[in-house]
Amino acid sequence: ASRYTHGLKKIRTGFKGRINALLANFRHVDEDFFDDLEEMLIESDVGFEAAMKISDELRDEVKFQNAKSKAEVSEVIVEKLVDLYEEAGKDQDEELHFAEEGPTVFLFVGVNGVGKTTTIGKLAKRYKDEGKKVMVAAGDTFRAGAIQQLDEWAQRVGVTIVKKPEKSDPASVVYDAVTKAKKENYDILLVDTAGRLQNKVNLMNELEKIQRIITREIPEAPHEVLLALDATTGQNALSQAKQFKDATDVTGIILTKLDGTARGGIVLAIRNELHIPVKLVGLGEQVDDLRDFNTEDFAYGLFK
Ligand code: GDP
Repeated sequence: ASRYTHGLKKIRTGFKGRINALLANFRHVDEDFFDDLEEMLIESDVGFEAAMKISDELRDEVKFQNAKSKAEVSEVIVEKLVDLYEEAGKDQDEELHFAEEGPTVFLFVGVNGVGKTTTIGKLAKRYKDEGKKVMVAAGDTFRAGAIQQLDEWAQRVGVTIVKKPEKSDPASVVYDAVTKAKKENYDILLVDTAGRLQNKVNLMNELEKIQRIITREIPEAPHEVLLALDATTGQNALSQAKQFKDATDVTGIILTKLDGTARGGIVLAIRNELHIPVKLVGLGEQVDDLRDFNTEDFAYGLFK
Protein backbone atom coordinates (compact mmCIF):
# COMPACT_ATOMS: atom_id res chain seq x y z
CA ALA A 1 0.00 0.00 0.00
CA SER A 2 2.90 2.33 0.65
CA ARG A 3 3.47 2.99 -3.03
CA TYR A 4 0.22 4.92 -3.14
CA THR A 5 0.09 6.34 0.36
CA HIS A 6 0.12 10.08 -0.15
CA GLY A 7 -1.84 10.21 -3.39
CA LEU A 8 -4.68 8.03 -2.23
CA LYS A 9 -5.43 9.92 0.96
CA LYS A 10 -8.58 11.51 -0.32
CA ILE A 11 -10.00 8.45 -2.01
CA ARG A 12 -9.12 6.32 0.97
CA THR A 13 -10.77 8.53 3.55
CA GLY A 14 -13.68 8.91 1.13
CA PHE A 15 -14.30 5.20 0.85
CA LYS A 16 -13.60 4.40 4.47
CA GLY A 17 -15.64 7.40 5.50
CA ARG A 18 -18.61 6.07 3.56
CA ILE A 19 -18.24 2.61 5.04
CA ASN A 20 -17.94 4.10 8.51
CA ALA A 21 -21.00 6.27 7.97
CA LEU A 22 -22.91 3.23 6.83
CA LEU A 23 -21.85 1.27 9.89
CA ALA A 24 -22.59 4.17 12.23
CA ASN A 25 -26.28 3.61 11.48
CA PHE A 26 -25.96 -0.13 11.80
CA ARG A 27 -28.30 -1.92 14.20
CA HIS A 28 -28.68 -5.31 12.60
CA VAL A 29 -28.41 -6.90 9.18
CA ASP A 30 -31.65 -6.14 7.35
CA GLU A 31 -32.88 -4.90 4.00
CA ASP A 32 -32.46 -1.25 4.99
CA PHE A 33 -28.84 -1.91 5.63
CA PHE A 34 -28.34 -3.38 2.16
CA ASP A 35 -30.26 -0.50 0.60
CA ASP A 36 -27.87 1.93 2.25
CA LEU A 37 -24.95 -0.20 1.15
CA GLU A 38 -26.10 -0.08 -2.50
CA GLU A 39 -26.45 3.68 -2.29
CA MET A 40 -22.98 3.98 -0.80
CA LEU A 41 -21.49 1.91 -3.63
CA ILE A 42 -23.23 3.93 -6.33
CA GLU A 43 -21.99 7.15 -4.74
CA SER A 44 -18.49 5.69 -4.86
CA ASP A 45 -18.68 5.42 -8.67
CA VAL A 46 -18.68 1.64 -8.98
CA GLY A 47 -21.57 1.88 -11.44
CA PHE A 48 -25.18 0.75 -10.94
CA GLU A 49 -24.91 -2.84 -12.10
CA ALA A 50 -21.71 -3.47 -10.21
CA ALA A 51 -23.26 -1.98 -7.08
CA MET A 52 -26.16 -4.45 -7.32
CA LYS A 53 -23.84 -7.36 -7.94
CA ILE A 54 -21.55 -6.45 -5.06
CA SER A 55 -24.42 -5.94 -2.70
CA ASP A 56 -25.84 -9.38 -3.61
CA GLU A 57 -22.49 -10.99 -3.00
CA LEU A 58 -22.10 -9.17 0.29
CA ARG A 59 -25.56 -10.30 1.35
CA ASP A 60 -24.58 -13.93 0.65
CA GLU A 61 -21.27 -13.53 2.40
CA VAL A 62 -22.78 -11.96 5.52
CA LYS A 63 -25.25 -14.85 5.68
CA PHE A 64 -22.59 -17.48 4.99
CA GLN A 65 -20.28 -16.16 7.67
CA ASN A 66 -23.19 -15.56 9.98
CA ALA A 67 -21.90 -12.05 10.65
CA LYS A 68 -24.09 -10.23 13.14
CA SER A 69 -22.18 -7.62 15.07
CA LYS A 70 -21.01 -4.36 13.59
CA ALA A 71 -17.37 -5.49 13.75
CA GLU A 72 -18.12 -8.78 11.97
CA VAL A 73 -20.14 -7.12 9.25
CA SER A 74 -17.47 -4.48 8.75
CA GLU A 75 -14.81 -7.14 8.33
CA VAL A 76 -16.88 -9.10 5.83
CA ILE A 77 -17.49 -5.98 3.76
CA VAL A 78 -13.86 -4.94 3.63
CA GLU A 79 -12.59 -8.46 2.87
CA LYS A 80 -15.20 -8.92 0.18
CA LEU A 81 -14.43 -5.58 -1.47
CA VAL A 82 -10.73 -6.44 -1.59
CA ASP A 83 -11.63 -9.84 -3.09
CA LEU A 84 -13.87 -8.25 -5.69
CA TYR A 85 -11.16 -5.82 -6.72
CA GLU A 86 -8.69 -8.64 -7.12
CA GLU A 87 -11.13 -10.88 -8.92
CA ALA A 88 -12.13 -8.15 -11.38
CA GLY A 89 -8.48 -7.73 -12.30
CA LYS A 90 -7.31 -11.30 -12.34
CA ASP A 91 -7.25 -11.83 -16.11
CA GLN A 92 -5.95 -8.37 -16.82
CA ASP A 93 -2.40 -7.75 -17.81
CA GLU A 94 -1.20 -4.76 -15.77
CA GLU A 95 2.32 -4.74 -17.26
CA LEU A 96 3.55 -2.32 -19.87
CA HIS A 97 5.06 -4.06 -22.90
CA PHE A 98 8.36 -3.16 -24.53
CA ALA A 99 10.06 -4.01 -27.81
CA GLU A 100 12.56 -6.85 -27.63
CA GLU A 101 14.72 -4.96 -30.05
CA GLY A 102 14.63 -1.42 -31.42
CA PRO A 103 12.39 1.43 -30.28
CA THR A 104 9.37 0.87 -28.07
CA VAL A 105 6.44 3.07 -29.10
CA PHE A 106 3.62 4.11 -26.76
CA LEU A 107 0.68 5.98 -28.26
CA PHE A 108 -1.33 8.21 -25.88
CA VAL A 109 -4.99 8.97 -26.50
CA GLY A 110 -7.71 10.72 -24.51
CA VAL A 111 -9.78 13.92 -24.52
CA ASN A 112 -8.25 17.32 -23.77
CA GLY A 113 -7.48 18.06 -20.18
CA VAL A 114 -7.37 14.51 -18.84
CA GLY A 115 -3.61 14.57 -18.31
CA LYS A 116 -2.04 12.99 -21.41
CA THR A 117 0.78 15.49 -21.81
CA THR A 118 1.60 15.48 -18.11
CA THR A 119 1.74 11.68 -18.07
CA ILE A 120 4.05 11.66 -21.09
CA GLY A 121 6.35 14.09 -19.22
CA LYS A 122 6.36 11.89 -16.12
CA LEU A 123 7.09 8.73 -18.13
CA ALA A 124 9.81 10.44 -20.16
CA LYS A 125 11.50 11.28 -16.86
CA ARG A 126 11.14 7.71 -15.59
CA TYR A 127 12.75 6.16 -18.68
CA LYS A 128 15.42 8.85 -18.92
CA ASP A 129 16.35 8.12 -15.28
CA GLU A 130 16.65 4.45 -16.23
CA GLY A 131 19.32 5.47 -18.73
CA LYS A 132 17.19 5.05 -21.82
CA LYS A 133 17.29 7.19 -24.94
CA VAL A 134 13.86 8.85 -24.97
CA MET A 135 11.92 10.82 -27.58
CA VAL A 136 8.51 12.47 -27.39
CA ALA A 137 6.42 13.36 -30.45
CA ALA A 138 4.04 16.34 -30.40
CA GLY A 139 1.17 14.68 -32.27
CA ASP A 140 -1.43 17.00 -30.76
CA THR A 141 -1.11 19.74 -33.36
CA PHE A 142 -4.70 20.82 -32.79
CA ARG A 143 -5.04 22.15 -29.24
CA ALA A 144 -3.51 25.60 -28.80
CA GLY A 145 -0.52 25.33 -26.52
CA ALA A 146 -0.22 21.55 -26.59
CA ILE A 147 3.04 21.55 -28.54
CA GLN A 148 4.61 24.14 -26.29
CA GLN A 149 3.50 22.30 -23.18
CA LEU A 150 5.13 19.08 -24.36
CA ASP A 151 8.21 21.05 -25.38
CA GLU A 152 8.51 22.43 -21.85
CA TRP A 153 8.35 18.91 -20.43
CA ALA A 154 10.98 17.72 -22.91
CA GLN A 155 13.35 20.58 -21.94
CA ARG A 156 12.75 20.06 -18.25
CA VAL A 157 13.34 16.31 -18.37
CA GLY A 158 16.08 16.52 -21.01
CA VAL A 159 14.67 14.35 -23.79
CA THR A 160 14.34 14.85 -27.54
CA ILE A 161 11.12 16.27 -29.00
CA VAL A 162 9.90 15.98 -32.57
CA LYS A 163 7.41 18.74 -33.41
CA LYS A 164 5.99 20.86 -36.21
CA PRO A 165 3.98 24.09 -36.24
CA GLU A 166 0.39 24.09 -34.95
CA LYS A 167 -2.22 22.65 -37.34
CA SER A 168 0.38 20.54 -39.18
CA ASP A 169 -0.70 17.03 -40.12
CA PRO A 170 -0.11 14.94 -36.97
CA ALA A 171 0.61 11.91 -39.15
CA SER A 172 3.65 13.66 -40.61
CA VAL A 173 4.95 14.51 -37.12
CA VAL A 174 4.57 10.87 -36.14
CA TYR A 175 6.25 9.70 -39.34
CA ASP A 176 9.26 11.95 -38.67
CA ALA A 177 9.47 10.76 -35.07
CA VAL A 178 9.26 7.04 -35.85
CA THR A 179 11.82 7.17 -38.65
CA LYS A 180 14.20 9.23 -36.49
CA ALA A 181 13.73 6.87 -33.55
CA LYS A 182 14.64 3.92 -35.77
CA LYS A 183 17.59 5.57 -37.44
CA GLU A 184 19.10 6.99 -34.26
CA ASN A 185 18.42 3.97 -32.06
CA TYR A 186 16.03 5.47 -29.54
CA ASP A 187 14.76 3.11 -26.84
CA ILE A 188 11.43 4.80 -26.15
CA LEU A 189 9.11 6.96 -28.24
CA LEU A 190 6.08 8.52 -26.53
CA VAL A 191 3.50 9.89 -28.96
CA ASP A 192 0.97 12.54 -27.92
CA THR A 193 -2.27 12.88 -29.93
CA ALA A 194 -5.19 15.30 -30.13
CA GLY A 195 -8.36 14.38 -28.27
CA ARG A 196 -11.36 15.80 -30.04
CA LEU A 197 -14.31 13.59 -29.30
CA GLN A 198 -16.68 16.20 -30.76
CA ASN A 199 -15.72 14.95 -34.17
CA LYS A 200 -15.57 11.23 -33.75
CA VAL A 201 -15.13 10.31 -37.40
CA ASN A 202 -12.15 12.63 -37.77
CA LEU A 203 -10.65 11.38 -34.57
CA MET A 204 -10.99 7.78 -35.67
CA ASN A 205 -9.47 8.49 -39.06
CA GLU A 206 -6.61 10.41 -37.50
CA LEU A 207 -5.82 7.74 -34.92
CA GLU A 208 -6.06 5.00 -37.52
CA LYS A 209 -3.70 6.86 -39.79
CA ILE A 210 -1.20 7.44 -36.99
CA GLN A 211 -1.34 3.79 -35.95
CA ARG A 212 -0.88 2.65 -39.53
CA ILE A 213 2.20 4.81 -39.98
CA ILE A 214 3.76 3.55 -36.77
CA THR A 215 3.08 -0.09 -37.67
CA ARG A 216 4.41 0.35 -41.18
CA GLU A 217 7.76 1.54 -39.83
CA ILE A 218 7.91 -0.81 -36.85
CA PRO A 219 5.69 -3.86 -37.42
CA GLU A 220 5.02 -4.78 -33.77
CA ALA A 221 4.43 -1.14 -32.73
CA PRO A 222 2.68 0.64 -31.10
CA HIS A 223 3.55 -1.57 -28.14
CA GLU A 224 0.89 0.14 -26.06
CA VAL A 225 -2.07 2.37 -26.87
CA LEU A 226 -2.73 4.09 -23.56
CA LEU A 227 -6.00 5.87 -22.90
CA ALA A 228 -5.86 8.60 -20.26
CA LEU A 229 -9.01 9.01 -18.15
CA ASP A 230 -9.64 11.61 -15.46
CA ALA A 231 -10.74 9.77 -12.30
CA THR A 232 -12.60 12.84 -11.03
CA THR A 233 -15.07 12.64 -13.92
CA GLY A 234 -16.55 9.32 -12.79
CA GLN A 235 -19.10 7.77 -15.10
CA ASN A 236 -18.27 10.34 -17.76
CA ALA A 237 -14.80 8.83 -18.03
CA LEU A 238 -16.43 5.48 -18.74
CA SER A 239 -18.46 6.80 -21.63
CA GLN A 240 -15.35 8.49 -23.09
CA ALA A 241 -13.52 5.21 -22.82
CA LYS A 242 -16.23 3.39 -24.74
CA GLN A 243 -15.88 5.84 -27.61
CA PHE A 244 -12.11 5.52 -27.75
CA LYS A 245 -12.41 1.75 -27.59
CA ASP A 246 -14.43 1.92 -30.80
CA ALA A 247 -11.88 4.20 -32.45
CA THR A 248 -8.66 2.40 -31.60
CA ASP A 249 -7.21 -0.73 -29.97
CA VAL A 250 -6.67 0.57 -26.47
CA THR A 251 -4.30 -1.75 -24.56
CA GLY A 252 -4.26 0.02 -21.23
CA ILE A 253 -5.70 2.84 -19.16
CA ILE A 254 -3.91 5.63 -17.36
CA LEU A 255 -6.15 6.77 -14.56
CA THR A 256 -5.14 10.35 -13.76
CA LYS A 257 -6.03 12.65 -10.86
CA LEU A 258 -6.76 9.83 -8.44
CA ASP A 259 -5.44 12.22 -5.80
CA GLY A 260 -8.42 14.47 -6.55
CA THR A 261 -11.31 12.09 -6.00
CA ALA A 262 -12.95 10.56 -2.94
CA ARG A 263 -14.78 7.98 -5.03
CA GLY A 264 -12.87 4.75 -4.96
CA GLY A 265 -15.19 2.72 -7.14
CA ILE A 266 -13.99 4.01 -10.49
CA VAL A 267 -11.29 1.34 -10.90
CA LEU A 268 -13.82 -1.39 -10.29
CA ALA A 269 -16.25 0.19 -12.75
CA ILE A 270 -13.54 0.38 -15.42
CA ARG A 271 -12.71 -3.27 -14.96
CA ASN A 272 -16.26 -4.52 -14.92
CA GLU A 273 -17.48 -2.46 -17.82
CA LEU A 274 -14.51 -1.97 -20.11
CA HIS A 275 -12.33 -5.02 -19.63
CA ILE A 276 -9.22 -2.94 -20.25
CA PRO A 277 -6.47 -3.08 -17.61
CA VAL A 278 -5.51 0.04 -15.69
CA LYS A 279 -1.72 0.18 -16.12
CA LEU A 280 -0.72 3.53 -14.65
CA VAL A 281 -2.18 5.93 -12.14
CA GLY A 282 -1.58 9.66 -11.73
CA LEU A 283 -1.44 10.85 -8.14
CA GLY A 284 -0.59 14.52 -8.61
CA GLU A 285 0.85 17.19 -10.87
CA GLN A 286 4.51 16.67 -10.01
CA VAL A 287 6.93 14.69 -12.13
CA ASP A 288 7.18 11.81 -9.63
CA ASP A 289 3.43 11.45 -9.12
CA LEU A 290 2.97 8.47 -11.41
CA ARG A 291 2.73 4.83 -10.31
CA ASP A 292 2.37 1.47 -11.97
CA PHE A 293 -1.00 0.08 -11.10
CA ASN A 294 -1.20 -3.02 -8.96
CA THR A 295 -4.61 -4.34 -7.93
CA GLU A 296 -3.65 -5.81 -4.63
CA ASP A 297 -1.76 -2.75 -3.41
CA PHE A 298 -4.52 -0.53 -4.63
CA ALA A 299 -7.31 -2.48 -2.95
CA TYR A 300 -5.42 -2.63 0.34
CA GLY A 301 -4.51 1.04 0.04
CA LEU A 302 -8.17 1.81 -0.33
CA PHE A 303 -9.79 -0.26 2.39
CA LYS A 304 -7.22 -1.17 5.01
P1 GDP B 1 -4.00 16.83 -21.74
O1 GDP B 1 -4.85 17.89 -22.37
O2 GDP B 1 -4.70 15.50 -21.73
O3 GDP B 1 -2.64 16.73 -22.33
O4 GDP B 1 -3.87 17.22 -20.18
P2 GDP B 1 -2.66 17.92 -19.40
O5 GDP B 1 -1.51 16.98 -19.30
O6 GDP B 1 -2.41 19.25 -19.95
O7 GDP B 1 -3.26 18.02 -17.93
C1 GDP B 1 -4.37 18.87 -17.61
C2 GDP B 1 -4.26 19.34 -16.16
O8 GDP B 1 -4.36 18.24 -15.27
C3 GDP B 1 -2.91 19.99 -15.85
O9 GDP B 1 -3.15 21.11 -15.02
C4 GDP B 1 -2.15 18.91 -15.07
O10 GDP B 1 -1.21 19.44 -14.17
C5 GDP B 1 -3.27 18.22 -14.34
N1 GDP B 1 -2.95 16.80 -14.02
C6 GDP B 1 -2.50 15.84 -14.85
N2 GDP B 1 -2.36 14.66 -14.18
C7 GDP B 1 -2.73 14.89 -12.88
C8 GDP B 1 -2.83 14.06 -11.69
O11 GDP B 1 -2.55 12.86 -11.65
N3 GDP B 1 -3.28 14.69 -10.56
C9 GDP B 1 -3.62 16.02 -10.53
N4 GDP B 1 -4.05 16.53 -9.38
N5 GDP B 1 -3.54 16.81 -11.63
C10 GDP B 1 -3.10 16.27 -12.79
